[in-house]
Amino acid sequence: MNRTTSLDRTLSADKPFDVIIIGGGASGLGAAVDAAARGHSVALFEQADFAKATSSRSTKLVHGGVRYLQQGNISLVLEALRERGRLSKNAPHLVHSQAFVIPNYSWWEGPFYGIGMKVYDQLAGKLGLSPSRHLSRKQTIEKIPTVEQEKLAGGVIYHDGQFDDSRLAVNLAQTADELGAVMLNYCKCTKILKKDDVVSGVEVHDSENDQTFAVRGRSVINATGVFVDEIRKMDDQGTRKIIAVSQGIHLVLPKRFLPGEAAIMIPKTADGRVLFAVPWKDHVVVGTTDTPLKGYSLEPRALKEERDFVMTHACKYLTEDPTEADILSVFAGLRPLVKAKEGSDTAALSRDHSIIVSGSGLITLTGGKWTTYRKMAEDVIDQAETVAGLDHKRCCTEDMQIHGWTHAEIPQRNLEAYGTDALKIQNLIKSDPSLGERIHPAFSCQKAEVVWHAREEMARTVEDVLARRTRALLLNAAASIEAAPAVADLLAAELGRDDNWKEEQIRAYTRLAKGYVFSDPASTGHA
Ligand SMILES: Cc1cc2nc3c(=O)[nH]c(=O)nc-3n(C[C@H](O)[C@H](O)[C@H](O)COP(=O)(O)OP(=O)(O)OC[C@H]3O[C@@H](n4cnc5c(N)ncnc54)[C@H](O)[C@@H]3O)c2cc1C
Repeated sequence: MNRTTSLDRTLSADKPFDVIIIGGGASGLGAAVDAAARGHSVALFEQADFAKATSSRSTKLVHGGVRYLQQGNISLVLEALRERGRLSKNAPHLVHSQAFVIPNYSWWEGPFYGIGMKVYDQLAGKLGLSPSRHLSRKQTIEKIPTVEQEKLAGGVIYHDGQFDDSRLAVNLAQTADELGAVMLNYCKCTKILKKDDVVSGVEVHDSENDQTFAVRGRSVINATGVFVDEIRKMDDQGTRKIIAVSQGIHLVLPKRFLPGEAAIMIPKTADGRVLFAVPWKDHVVVGTTDTPLKGYSLEPRALKEERDFVMTHACKYLTEDPTEADILSVFAGLRPLVKAKEGSDTAALSRDHSIIVSGSGLITLTGGKWTTYRKMAEDVIDQAETVAGLDHKRCCTEDMQIHGWTHAEIPQRNLEAYGTDALKIQNLIKSDPSLGERIHPAFSCQKAEVVWHAREEMARTVEDVLARRTRALLLNAAASIEAAPAVADLLAAELGRDDNWKEEQIRAYTRLAKGYVFSDPASTGHA
């Protein structure tokens, strides 16, 4: 995947693309893969980096959604479980089975959640991971040695999937690129173009080269998450807002707070929320919240009350109470929830995906979740074919392998998430052993990975590497700031940048990462 080549292909296109996609998160990337796999010509434009927004800030679960089961939304759970199974097969290098234990502190919770999880197993059917079962108090403590033991009666264990969200995003971008799609990051859609009142393309601003150009397309898909109303307004000034924003935050703790392999799932906190504490990349991710916000931005910040909520519950369910000094990173993401009508509150909003076609033919895809990105893509490309009069071709992503696909064991654990690319990164180290050095003692990431990110994964900035190609920012924000100069050196050499660029990159990254350090509270929800 090469940015210069993609840009040249966009600028020299002599006929309209069949499908233009605005937004490079889960929704847009999935749509690009689907359309390109059907044989349509595709161009995708992302204003920042792939998965810069919500798609790098999830709880990292490939799941049916136990919470939706509680709400009785069986069709949503069923679809998500089906997609969980497909994604596990199509990206085995990124998705693995994760055990979750629901600790029970009342006599009725065991049978209650036990039956609920059996229904979950049944819905998953043949695509199920492992059957759920009841655990005695002793077995619960064996699985979660640090779970709060006072009044603990037992537990229920079940399985869901876990993944690396932004790495899947990069792999989807590579998959689409290999299928012939033009994939461009740092290209913002600034205008919807029309001919005879029908959408005919987009105007795009490339922030790297500071150039603006028009791209013609037979269909245009707006997959911009919490930003979809901005694009809808470009199409029709008078259109009503369809999105309500709900923020969710996570705290990252050292592994010692959850030393085993199982995660903790609290189906209902005192105020009715679902809470997870999940082992992830030798750390523990605890979250999340569901806080309605009026505004939105590319860099949302956790509110003090959200941090307090997660901390209080971490203390309640773990034997050792984490203190502020234990928090390695705090990250926030924004759910784009579709309003039924003006004034709905976020709890009552749809968690399902929606496709809306405007009078001029702009197709908006929003809502849903990472787990169901493939089905969302299938539905939106079916719609695009109808709206734009494209040849109707069958979706072929159900069993399609995603870039990096392999079942083979990767000998170097830190390279597991690269799948088949791991070998190529090892070859870089063979040809230059200095690339085997780590970028920082706190991270397993080796210098060769950064070279790979620049050459093959369209990483353009220090943030692209530390936040999304590796997960250093989420795993240890303070240490990631220390790693920034090494990453800037490697990127500058690959991208042909000078010392000024390096200094500016380190400054910008430091500013950003300070917002992920726990001691830097926000009051507005925005950076
Ligand atoms: C706290 C939290 C936890 C979650 N946990 C899970 C989970 O565990 N499992 C799960 O399945 N789902 C989870 N989700 C849901 C999932 O993360 C989202 O459904 C998904 O990431 C949304 O992807 P998207 O592509 O629609 O939006 P986004 O990822 O926000 O992508 C939209 C993109 O559009 C770009 N854009 C905006 N304007 C423009 C423009 N003018 N031009 C070009 N580009 C533009 C943005 O920069 C952005 O990258 C979670 C969500 C949240 C908030």
